[in-house]
Amino acid sequence: MASIRELHEHLVKKERSAVEITQEALDRIQALEPKLHSFLHITAQKALEQARAVDAKIAAGEEIGLLAGIPIGVKDNMCTKGIPTTCASRMLENFVPPYESSVTQKLLDAGAVVVGKTNLDEFAMGSSTESSAYQVTANPWDLSRVPGGSSGGSAAAVAAEECVVALGSDTGGSIRQPASFCGVVGLKPTYGLVSRYGLVAYASSLDQIGPFGRSVEDTAILLKAIAGYDPQDSTSLKVEIPDYIASLKPDLKARGKLRIGVIKETFGEGLDSVVEQAVTKAIEQLQGLGAEIHVISCPNFRYGVPSYYIIAPSEASANLARYDGVKYGWRAPEGDNLLSMYMRTRASGFGAEVKRRIMIGTYALSAGYYDAYYIKAQKVRTLIKQDFDNAFKNVDVLVSPTAPTTAFKAGEKTADPISMYLNDLMTIPVNLAGLPGISVPCGFDEQGLPIGLQLIGKVLREDQLLQVAYAYEQSTSWHLNQPKIS
Ligand code: GLN
Repeated sequence: MASIRELHEHLVKKERSAVEITQEALDRIQALEPKLHSFLHITAQKALEQARAVDAKIAAGEEIGLLAGIPIGVKDNMCTKGIPTTCASRMLENFVPPYESSVTQKLLDAGAVVVGKTNLDEFAMGSSTESSAYQVTANPWDLSRVPGGSSGGSAAAVAAEECVVALGSDTGGSIRQPASFCGVVGLKPTYGLVSRYGLVAYASSLDQIGPFGRSVEDTAILLKAIAGYDPQDSTSLKVEIPDYIASLKPDLKARGKLRIGVIKETFGEGLDSVVEQAVTKAIEQLQGLGAEIHVISCPNFRYGVPSYYIIAPSEASANLARYDGVKYGWRAPEGDNLLSMYMRTRASGFGAEVKRRIMIGTYALSAGYYDAYYIKAQKVRTLIKQDFDNAFKNVDVLVSPTAPTTAFKAGEKTADPISMYLNDLMTIPVNLAGLPGISVPCGFDEQGLPIGLQLIGKVLREDQLLQVAYAYEQSTSWHLNQPKIS
C-alpha cells in the first residue's frame, strides 16, 4: 500500500476511489488476520460508508485533505461511538461507548477511514500485547515473535500494510517499543499536545496518544491531524501547532546547526550487541549528515523503571477503581452481597497483569507506604526531568536505542514480569519527563528483525524531532524493507 501522499494524488486525480483503497485494506486484513491477529474489531461497513462520503466529495469537485480516504487503525483503548471499545479486557467486553474520543472525532472530520480497532495489552499494561484477554498479535517479520506492546496491534497492522497509519497510546513506551519491534515509525508526543478525552485512562500523568506510520512523513501527517488544544481535556496545551509536514527537509541542517546528544547510560549492560552496533552506525550517519555529536550523561535515567513501576500502578489503581460491576462493563453473576459482587467482578474481569498493577499501586498509596514509595518515586521523577533539562542546555535532540533487544519470542517473558518491564528502560524516562520521542527503523539483526533508533526532543519540539528523523530516514533505506507476509 502506498504512502498517504501517493494515495491522496490517486484520489484527487480520480485514478482510484476511496472505496477501492478501503476495500484493498479490508481484503488484506481478511487475508492476514488469521495469522496476525492485530485487530479486535473490523469496522468494514462504517469504513466503506466513510469512503463513499469521500468519493462523493471528490465527485462534487470539493477539496479534500491529505487524510481523506486513508485507511487507519485505532488502538482499542480509544472510545469510538457505537463501536466496541474493550481495552482488550473482559471487563469491557460489551462496552459500546456512547461518545467519540477527541482524536477519533478529528480523524472522522478529516475524512479518514477507520478500518478497525487494534489489539493491545489489557488496559495498555505490557510490552508484548500478550496480556490481551482476547488474542496474541504476531510480529509480521516473524510470526513466532511478539510485536511489542502495548500498542502491538497498531504497529503490526501498519507494518503488514493492513492500514496506512494507526493510532497508539504511550505511557512508558507503548508506541515507540512496538514501532521498533515492527520496523515502523512511532511517535509519542509531548504530554498535553494530543487530547486524551476518550482515551481510557491507564496512568493519566503519563498517557499520551500518538501516530504510527511506515514513513516519517505519514507519521507527521497523522500527528498534525490529532494535535491541538481540546477544552475537554484539562491537561491539553493551548499552543500553536507547527506545520510538521513543511518542516520535513532531507537536509539535516536545513534549519541551522544541529547538536545531538548520545545518552551514555543507554549503552552498556543489558543492551544487545547487534542493537548497539546498529544504533552506533545510525549516530555516525547523523554525524555524516552534519550533526555535532556530544556524549551526554543522564545519571538518573536508570531509576526510570523503578519509579515508573510505582507511579504508573498507583495511578492505575485509582483509574481502574471505576470498574466495579455497577457503572458499566462486566458484572460477575450476583454475589451474596454488594462487597462480594465487587470482588467477584474484579477477580474475574481483570487479567493477571492488571491485578498485579492494582495491587502494587494500592500498596504504594496506602497510608503506611505513601511517603516511602509514592512520594519518593515522584522525587525521582523530578530528578529525571532535571537530567533532561541539563542535557538540553547543550544539545537539541537526544538519541538512544528504542529497546534493548529486537522482538522476542511469544511466551519468552510472560512468566517473568521484571524482564518484561526492563524492555522499557529507554522509553520510560521520556514519559516521566513529558517529552516527545520517536522511534525510526535503523537496521536489522541477523535474523532479519527490525531495530529502532529513539530520538528525544525538547518539549513541544515535535517539528525538530520529525525533521531529524526525516533527514535520517531519507539517507537510509531501512524503511523501504517490508516483511514478507502475504
Ligand atoms: N510497558 C509499559 C507498561 O507496561 C508501558 C506501557 C504503555 O506505554 N502503555 O506499563
